[in-house]
Order: sequence, then structure tokens, then C-alpha cells
Amino acid sequence: MGDLRLTRTNRGLVVRGRLKTAIAQTCSRCLRDIEWPVSIDVDGEALPVVDIVSGKPVASDDEPDALRLTDHHELDLEGEVRDGIILAEPIAPLCRKDCPGLCIVCGLELASGPHDHPGDDIDPRLEGLRKFIGDVNPS
Ligand SMILES: [Zn+2]
Ligand SMILES: [Zn+2]
Repeated sequence: MGDLRLTRTNRGLVVRGRLKTAIAQTCSRCLRDIEWPVSIDVDGEALPVVDIVSGKPVASDDEPDALRLTDHHELDLEGEVRDGIILAEPIAPLCRKDCPGLCIVCGLELASGPHDHPGDDIDPRLEGLRKFIGDVNPS
């Protein structure tokens, strides 16, 4: 789910790259389920929680922002991914930039094209007018 470049240093690993994932969102206009792409830039040094040479735990308090390697010396990016997703979470996601949203009359998706409503052609105001005209000119 992305490209990461790892460079070994004398303390740990330098991790650089970009992770790509997607989060489930709902279009704020038409309420359609969408996948929101998220890319997370990773750029940091990952330090082991256990000293590779001595096997002793390494104090992580000194550098709380550093990435961590697990005690199996594996890279743990879970926190990075979680933070990246929180940052990337849109306030008002749209399925597409010009999403027309929902019809205010019937709630149908306007993206699916123009549509009719039952009774669209009978405007109650015109009905009243027609009756009035009829009274003036009785046939
Ligand atoms: Zn939409
Ligand atoms: Zn409608």
C-alpha cells in the first residue's frame, strides 16, 4: 500500500516514503458511500525499543515523536497511519467535486439525471387561476 525507503542507521532505520490507503466516507451532498483516498507521508527515524546489540530496552521517553521498531525489530507504522487518517479525514467529503446532491423535492440523486415528480405539471396556483378564468367566461 505504498512505497517506503528504509535506510539503516547506527541507531535504527530512516523511513521515508508515502503510504496510500482509503477510508470509507459518505458524500456530504448525496449520501453515497465513497472511498476517500488518503496518502500518508512518512519521514522519520525508527528507533528500536530494544537495543539490537545489548538486548536491553531502550528508553523511548527521550524521543516520543520517533517512529518505533517493535521488539522483533519490525517497523510499526500503525500510529503513523492512524494519525495520517485523522488528519486526512474530510469535513465535507464529496463523491465528486461537482456532485449536484439530492433533489430537494423527492431526495433522488440529481447525478442520475433529470427526473419527474408525480404531479409536477399540476401547479396548484395555476389550478386556482384556471377556475377563476372559467368563472369569468362561463362556457
Ligand atoms: Zn455525491
Ligand atoms: Zn426529485
